[in-house]
Amino acid sequence: MSQAQSDPVTPARYRRILLKVSGEVLMGDGGFGIDMKTVDAVAEEISQIVQLGVELCLVIGGGNIFRGLSTAAKGMERASADYMGMLGTVMNALAMQNALEKIGVTTRVQSAIQMDTICEPYIRRRALRHLEKGRVVIFAAGTGNPFFTTDTAAALRATEMGCDALLKGTSVDGVYDSDPKKNAKAKRFDSLTYHEVLKKDLKVMDASAVALARENAIPILVFSIHKHGEFARVVCGKGRFTIIRD
Ligand code: UDP
Repeated sequence: MSQAQSDPVTPARYRRILLKVSGEVLMGDGGFGIDMKTVDAVAEEISQIVQLGVELCLVIGGGNIFRGLSTAAKGMERASADYMGMLGTVMNALAMQNALEKIGVTTRVQSAIQMDTICEPYIRRRALRHLEKGRVVIFAAGTGNPFFTTDTAAALRATEMGCDALLKGTSVDGVYDSDPKKNAKAKRFDSLTYHEVLKKDLKVMDASAVALARENAIPILVFSIHKHGEFARVVCGKGRFTIIRD
């Protein structure tokens, strides 16, 4: 049981949040694709947030399946490669929906690219209604446009849904000045301004996502999704995370 769950007096700090996880988070040690054990573990973390009474939106990347930019570099037209990347995010969304529903969390998948037999199309007001009813809404296919990323989709949907915070669940416990897995001397930040992230070109989220969050005054919290119970702790203002705001 997580610290936040075991402590009934710890209230969640936020009413409605959006969690962004990269596709790479779901790939486990495999190096490619979807590792169902890892998806189940992330689903377990998410269910703790629902139990806290927080309304939750979810955006999952697709980097574990297909990245438009790297394939375009090998000669494919960028827009087509990006559409393939967006389809990858739909696969991840369906895997996560399955894992969540298996443990009793009600979900809806809404895709920015219409595919009616698989999931709902993205309809803002309908998504808001799902959230009010306590359902987790998984936003698939990014923004629906090539030349964008799922980070930007996360900032966009967080804004549209009126989220109080955008949480980025990564494999490390915050933002560093260089990759802590490669550089033992990497410096970790407890807090940063949006401007500092952009100026230092820190690789936490892409610039358009950070700019959109700044324009709409949505704080970004970066934490480790692999540490058991940490998501719930962070939502309650505990645990280890880097906060980005003005
Ligand atoms: N993508 C896109 N438009 C979007 C979101 C994603 O074209 O609005 C494509 C793009 O090719 C990207 C791929 O989908 O490389 C996977 O998304 P992303 O790289 O953001 O996934 P992550 O790094 O978070 O796993």
